[in-house]
Amino acid sequence: MTSTTRSRCAACKYLRRRCSSDCIFSPYFPSDNPQRFSCVHRIYGASNVGKMLQKLPVHLRAEAANSLYFEAHSRQEDPVYGCVGIITNLHEEIHDVENELAKIQAHLGIHRHSNNPEDGETSQSDHGPQQQQ
Ligand SMILES: [Zn+2]
Repeated sequence: MTSTTRSRCAACKYLRRRCSSDCIFSPYFPSDNPQRFSCVHRIYGASNVGKMLQKLPVHLRAEAANSLYFEAHSRQEDPVYGCVGIITNLHEEIHDVENELAKIQAHLGIHRHSNNPEDGETSQSDHGPQQQQ
C-alpha cells in the first residue's frame, strides 16, 4: 500500500498510527519491546508521556523514559505503593542494618573496655603536664 515501510516504534504500533521521523517516542520505546510502552501507557497515558518527554532537554529524555517505565512497572506490581513500596523497604533495610551496626559497635566498646589493662578512666589526650623542653 505505502512506499515507506519504516518500522514503527512500540508507541505508534500500539496506537496504530504512522511513526514520523521526529516521533517523540521512537528513540525510547523501540518496537522490539512493546511491553515497555504498554506498561507506561497504562499508568500515565501516551499523551502525557509524550508531553513530559517533549518538555525535557533531549539529553535527559532517555533517563526520564527509563524512570517512567520503572515507576509504571512498580505501580503494576504494587498498585497501592508502587515504587514508594520499594523505597520504603530499602529504608527499613537501612534502618535495620544501622541498628545492627550500633549494637555491634556497642559490643566492641564493651570488649575493648574489659580487655584494657588500665582502668579506662582518663581520656587518651589527657597526659598531664606538657613535657616540652
Ligand atoms: Zn513512533
